[in-house]
Amino acid sequence: MNVNDMEIVLSIMKNAGYNEIVTVPENAEIIFINTCAIRDNAEMKVWQRLNYFWFLKRNWKANVATGRSQSLRPPKVVVLGCMAERLKEKILDSDKMVDVVCGPDAYRDLPRLLEEVEYGQKGINTLLSLEETYADINPVRISQNSISAFVSIMRGCNNMCSFCIVPFTRGRERSRPVDSIVREVGELWKEGVKEVTLLGQNVNSYNDASVIEKEAEPGSNWKLSEGFSSISKVRTTGLRFADLLDRLSLKFPEMRFRFTSPHPKDFPDELLYLMRERNNICKLIHLPAQSGSSTMLERMRRGYTREAYLSLVQKIRTIIPDVALSSDFISGFCGETEEDHSDTLTLVKEVGYDMAYMFAYSMREKTHAHRNYEDDVPEETKQRRLTELIETFRESTGKCYDEQVGTTQLVLVEGPNKRAPDTELIGKSDKGHRQFMRKTLQLRKGVRFCIYP
Ligand code: SF4
Repeated sequence: MNVNDMEIVLSIMKNAGYNEIVTVPENAEIIFINTCAIRDNAEMKVWQRLNYFWFLKRNWKANVATGRSQSLRPPKVVVLGCMAERLKEKILDSDKMVDVVCGPDAYRDLPRLLEEVEYGQKGINTLLSLEETYADINPVRISQNSISAFVSIMRGCNNMCSFCIVPFTRGRERSRPVDSIVREVGELWKEGVKEVTLLGQNVNSYNDASVIEKEAEPGSNWKLSEGFSSISKVRTTGLRFADLLDRLSLKFPEMRFRFTSPHPKDFPDELLYLMRERNNICKLIHLPAQSGSSTMLERMRRGYTREAYLSLVQKIRTIIPDVALSSDFISGFCGETEEDHSDTLTLVKEVGYDMAYMFAYSMREKTHAHRNYEDDVPEETKQRRLTELIETFRESTGKCYDEQVGTTQLVLVEGPNKRAPDTELIGKSDKGHRQFMRKTLQLRKGVRFCIYP
């Protein structure tokens, strides 16, 4: 999401007359730092970077004199994104490190905020919006030569999982009008992009409410996954994620589509059958479980039990037999016992994920957990459980790769492998697995080919 947000910011700045992008902060007159607030670690890294930018500011004259900096003025530092939203004025109060603080829904205001700095003020706008989707903005792609691109289709989240800060930093769910998404994908296709990843905090909750062509059809698109519930009201009209994917995959049959990050509650059968039917929709589903214990899932307010999650996995594999699955897990959430932890390990073994993102729990202010629970799992226990989780994942994932031996995989060539640029190419299979290939005349960037491992 942050890469795509930066592309939106670049577009806004370009339209305001800021045309030159430099590659190193030492040469910049404005430094943007886009931030994540989901874990304490991520924020610590941002503070370290801010310290370095403060050093550049203070030593600007000396740096210019020694040739280290080519900036004509001391740099202005702009903090964007979730940490800006979470900490607001607190970031501005941090010495003179930061000049502008801008939340994820206020990027259009950046030129004005920077102008305020010219008059000796600090700029801040952290207002969250119920409508902002930046639908009319053409993102300026950071990797111009890449054959893959991100397209943001919705923003925000209504789910309020008890551990998560996102609803407080990114605001309520809102979706871009379908036509603006089709237009952007069309432009990317013309630029030579071969793979688009549709983005959203809850990408499969997409709902273009401006399209009222489809009314509620009981038993079809409007149902949540079986055994799942939602804390917020489920919309029954408008154009949903499966409809959007249907349109895009038909209109751009040679474009490959991925999506992230979904919530398991929004996988109606219609979406699964569509994924099976269309060759250009990748057979990789990210299905964040967070925990394998029903008790923990309830405390996390995820809206499902272990059993409901496993039934969904089974259904997905029945409908799309060669699907790859990935997941997110949190170790050591408030109140997690050894038994809960062992439920997570058995879930990981039982499902056999292709990929997983695993973290030790880090409590965030404002969240339901912060207000209601105690962060009572000692740090060393969290780390030990995380290690066990990673080991269990590693042991169980081998099967996913072994099963591919002797099969045919469609791979999109992304370019030279940085470790062996003269002899090897790198690419991604439909399931999202990295593939390395020897360079031949027939293989070049953007080509899709089959590989027999
Ligand atoms: Fe956070 Fe839950 Fe929303 Fe995901 S679904 S962004 S974990 S609140």
